[in-house]
Amino acid sequence: MISIRVRSRRSIRPAGSVGGCESTDRVLHRANPGMFFDLADSDSITCYHCGLYVCVGCQTAPVASTLTFCDACP
Ligand SMILES: [Zn+2]
Ligand SMILES: [Zn+2]
Repeated sequence: MISIRVRSRRSIRPAGSVGGCESTDRVLHRANPGMFFDLADSDSITCYHCGLYVCVGCQTAPVASTLTFCDACP
């Protein structure tokens, strides 16, 4: 009998993502460099993945309320 080992898949994480959060604006521009997007203002401050607010500075850290800087940003 041949036993087949099932390797556990490595979790796929988007490159450049720190805590898993990124603004919609940031994700779209990385995926389509050079393209112009007519996005709503809220797209640069909400997470593309979970829809929560992200830091207005780095756009990668989740914050409690809109237009807020995370601890790592001045
Ligand atoms: Zn998120
Ligand atoms: Zn920040």
